[in-house]
Formats: sequence, C-alpha cells, structure tokens
Amino acid sequence: MVNASQFRVLRIIILLMVLFVVAMNVGLNGVRMQAWERPVGVVLYPINADGEAGTQAYIDALNVEQFADIEAFLQREASRYQIRQQPLIEFSLAPMLNVQPPEFEADAGVLDRIVWSLHMRWWSWRNDNWLGAQPDVRIYLRYFSPQRNQPLTHSLGLQKGMIGLVNGYADIDYRGANHFVITHELMHTFGALDKYNLQTNEPIYPDGYADPQQKPLLPQTKAEVMSGRIKVSPGWLLMPQSLDRVIVGPKTAREIGWSPS
Ligand SMILES: [Zn+2]
Repeated sequence: MVNASQFRVLRIIILLMVLFVVAMNVGLNGVRMQAWERPVGVVLYPINADGEAGTQAYIDALNVEQFADIEAFLQREASRYQIRQQPLIEFSLAPMLNVQPPEFEADAGVLDRIVWSLHMRWWSWRNDNWLGAQPDVRIYLRYFSPQRNQPLTHSLGLQKGMIGLVNGYADIDYRGANHFVITHELMHTFGALDKYNLQTNEPIYPDGYADPQQKPLLPQTKAEVMSGRIKVSPGWLLMPQSLDRVIVGPKTAREIGWSPS
C-alpha cells in the first residue's frame, strides 16, 4: 500500500520528470527553429468551444487551404529579411478535438500561469489526435458562435513552448481577424514579444508601429504583428481585418531569428 505522503512524493517526482522532458524538448526545438533552414510544421487543432451547431458546421467546412494567407504572409515578410527558405511554414489540419483545454484565468498570478502552462503542455501531449509527422508547433483553435455576443477571452502563445491557444469566431466574416490572431500567437511560439501596452492595447512606440518614421505619425495604415492594433488617431485603435494590413517589424524579426540581434 502507498500512503498519502508517499503518494505526494511520487507526484512531485513525476511532475519533475515531466518538467525535465518539457525543458529538454523546448530547448531542442528552440535551437532548431531559429535557423529557419527547413519548413516549420504547424498543426492546427479545431475545437468546438461552445457546442453550438453553427460552430460545428463551420468547423466541418474547414480545410487547410483556408489558412494559406498566413503561410503567404510569413513567406512575404520573411523574404523582406532575406530568409530564403521556401516553404517557410507548413500547416496541417488535425481532426476536431472533442476535449476542452485547461481554462486560463486572465488575471492569474505568475505561479498560476506557470502551472497553467505545464498543465496545457501535459493536456496537449495527452490529447494529441494528429497521426502525421511530429509538428514543431501546435495551435488549438477554439471556435465560438458570434451569435452569442460573448466577448472572447485572451488568446495565448507559449513562448518557446510551441503551443498556441487561439479563441476565434466561427464565421467567415471573422476569418481575417482569426487569422491575424493565429499569426500573432504563432509568432509568440517562435519567441516574439508583445509590443503593445497590456492595459490600454496601445501600440508601444517605436517597435509596435508598422511605420514609426511616418510623418505625420498618425494615421498609421498597418499594424505591427506583435502590437496587434492599427493606431488611426489618438484613442482610435483598429484591429487589422486581414494580414494585408500587417507587417513584421525589425525588433520582432530579431526576436524570432529572421535578422541578427
Ligand atoms: Zn501577444
């Protein structure tokens, strides 16, 4: 028989082993990714987050070609930084997952975030339904019906954790916005950092601006991918509705290894 304290020690040992494996894996991935000398494999896992029939119909109609705008965006932006690898990114679409990822509290403290991130990696490993080649990055797409008028919770990309969690609306009108969020979280998994004020959503000058040299500075017409908003005028921020209105700025390019730091 195992008593309670032995069970606790056992749990801690298992958790440490998981941590070690995760740390090793992330370290290796990080090194491999920075070179950009082979295509990065990204698997997308759709999830019906609200169980609605409309959401299900949207997921049933998904195919991987619909995500080609993200591949094209990254190819276009990488070539501006003399990255010649082609294709740069290869998306695959996994069958729908019938489980929900661990809930994330937006106001969670540092420790809760670490626990959530470990839980997320564990959950991702346990619930993998992708039978193809081992991906570099896994993006979970939680789709919600826009009819519910429910604001979406924050999407997340684990820095160098190679996992992204994206909340989006199951509607073709929101596809451009969804794909922008997927791209932003994907960039986090490559090591890019946010370039906006987390309290106000304002782009941070200069790195969060698509064109920080523009005179006059406003209105900006594009967004830097890690700032996420087009600043039109003071107090007026627009979320880009298409990746045509987004660029990868020099600082983000350095963070993800597209240009020397
Ligand atoms: Zn972000």
